[in-house]
Amino acid sequence: MGLRTPAQYLKSLNDGRAVYYKGKKIADVTKHPFLRIAAEHAAIDYHLAEDPKHRELAVVKDPEGAGLISRMYLPPKTPADLLKRSDLIDLATREGKTMVTLIKEIGTDALFALHIISHQMDKALPTHFYERVHRFYRHCADNDLAVAVAQTDAKGDRSLRPSEQEHPDYYLRVVSRDKKGIVVRGAKLHTSVSVNSNELIVLPTRNFDEKDKDYAVAFAIPMNTKGLRLITSAYSQPKDNDFQFPLSNKHLMLETTTIFDDVFVPLERVFMDGQYQYAGPLALAFVDFHRFTAVSYKQPLLDLLVGAALLLADQNGISRVSHVRDKLTWLAIYTETVKGLLHHAALTAKTVEPGFAVPNRMYSNVAKFQFAHNYHQALAIVQDIAGGLVVTAPGEEDMKNPTLAKDIRHYLGGRKGVSADDRLKAMHLVADLTATEFGGYHAVLAIHAEGSLEAEKLAIAREYDIASAMAYAKRMANIK
Ligand SMILES: Cc1cc2nc3c(=O)[nH]c(=O)nc-3n(C[C@H](O)[C@H](O)[C@H](O)COP(=O)(O)OP(=O)(O)OC[C@H]3O[C@@H](n4cnc5c(N)ncnc54)[C@H](O)[C@@H]3O)c2cc1C
Repeated sequence: MGLRTPAQYLKSLNDGRAVYYKGKKIADVTKHPFLRIAAEHAAIDYHLAEDPKHRELAVVKDPEGAGLISRMYLPPKTPADLLKRSDLIDLATREGKTMVTLIKEIGTDALFALHIISHQMDKALPTHFYERVHRFYRHCADNDLAVAVAQTDAKGDRSLRPSEQEHPDYYLRVVSRDKKGIVVRGAKLHTSVSVNSNELIVLPTRNFDEKDKDYAVAFAIPMNTKGLRLITSAYSQPKDNDFQFPLSNKHLMLETTTIFDDVFVPLERVFMDGQYQYAGPLALAFVDFHRFTAVSYKQPLLDLLVGAALLLADQNGISRVSHVRDKLTWLAIYTETVKGLLHHAALTAKTVEPGFAVPNRMYSNVAKFQFAHNYHQALAIVQDIAGGLVVTAPGEEDMKNPTLAKDIRHYLGGRKGVSADDRLKAMHLVADLTATEFGGYHAVLAIHAEGSLEAEKLAIAREYDIASAMAYAKRMANIK
C-alpha cells in the first residue's frame, strides 16, 4: 500500500475491534466524540509525512526496496539515524502540544528488539523466528501501519513469579498449541494507543525460568482479532474549550486494559513461544530503544516547562527577583541535562547484530531517570512562579459575560503592558501542563511509563563499571 494519508489511517481504525469506553462497546472510535480526539492526535504522524516542510525528516527511501517508508520504520544503523529518529519524535510531540503520538515509535522499538533477539535465538536454538519477525516488520512498514505494544502484565503479587501466583493468569500465557498456532490468555495493562492502532505487538515483561516457560511468549495480532477486548482508561475526561485547556482539548493519548480471552495467534505471527532464557533479554532490548524514545518525546514538555515559567515570571513582574532567577536556572539545568544525555546516548550507541545501532543503555537510563526523578520538582517551580491563579482563574464562559470580563480585565492584569487576557491564557497553560488531569497524566507518565524509577536504577547499577572505579580508588590508595 505504501505511505498512507491521515484519512486512510483514520478509516483503517473502523475494523470491528472491541473497544470499550465507560462500560460500553464503541462501534467506531473515529466517530466517538472523545475517543476520536486520540485518533486525530495520532494522525499528526501522517500529516507530517505529507507536509513539504517536514517530509524530508518524516519520510525516507526504503533501504530494502524502491519505495518510501516512514522514517520511524528505518532500522537505525548509525548514531545519526538515532538522532534523526529522535528529532522526528520530538517534532511530532511538539505538534501534539507535548503529547507523543506513539503509533509508530513504540511499535518500531519493539520490532527492532525482536529482530535482535530472534536473531540470537535462531543462532543458538533450532528456531526460525527472525524470518517471521522480518516479514511482519515488512507488513507494517509497507502498509505504514500504526502499532501498539502490550508488555506490562497485571502481575498480581509483585514479589511472586507467574507460576507462584494465586491464579495462573496474572501474566499472559500460552494455554494451548497446535501446528497452526497458539492460544493465549491473560491481560496486559496500560497499553498506550491501542484504541487507535492497527496492530498489537505483545512482549514478555520480565525474565522467566523454566517453570514459567508458557509465559515466555511474543507475537503480533491485528486489533480486530477475536477475543481481544480493549477497556479504555476512565482517567481522561472530555474538555470543552481551548482557552482553559490549550493543550489537552485536542491532544490525548489513551491506554487500555487489554484482555486476551483465549486469542488464537497463527504461527507466522509468533515470535517467541517457550524460549524462557530469551524473555528477559527481549524485555531489555525493547527497553533499550524505548527509553531513548521516551527521552526524545520529553524534550517539548521540558522546553514548555521552562518557557511557561519564564513567561509567568515576566508577566508577574518577578523575572529579576533572585529566588526566581535561581529557580529558572534550575529548570534550565534540568532540561539541558536530559537533552545532553539523550544526545550522548545516541552518539555512543553500540552496533548489535544483525546491524542495529542501539542507544547507549547507561545514558538512556540516566536520562530517563534524571527526567522522572526531578519532574515533580520542576512542576513545583513552575507552579510556585505562576501563583495560585493556576487553579483559581476565571474561565472561558466568564470572559464571555461583559460585566465579568470588565472586572477580570480591570483586576487580573500583570506587570505594566501585560493584559489580563494574556495572563489568564498563560495561567491556563500552566494549569493544563501541571494541574489539570492532563498535567496529572503527564506526571504519572513521567514516573511509570517506559519503566519505573527503580527499573532505571537497576539498569544503571548493572551498567556501571564498578571494577574500574574500584581499581582506580585502590591505585590512588596504593593498595595492591
Ligand atoms: C501512561 C502510561 C502509559 C504506559 N504505556 C504502556 C504501553 O504502551 N505498553 C506497556 O506495555 N506498558 C505501558 N505502561 C506501563 C509501564 O511500563 C508500567 O506502568 C511500569 O513498568 C510500572 O509497572 P506497574 O504500573 O505495574 O507498577 P508496579 O510494577 O506495580 O510498580 C509500583 C511500585 O512497585 C515497585 N515494584 C514492582 N515490582 C517490584 C518487585 N518485584 N520488587 C521490588 N519493587 C517492585 C516498583 O518499583 C514501583 O515502585 C504505561 C504506563 C503509564 C503510566
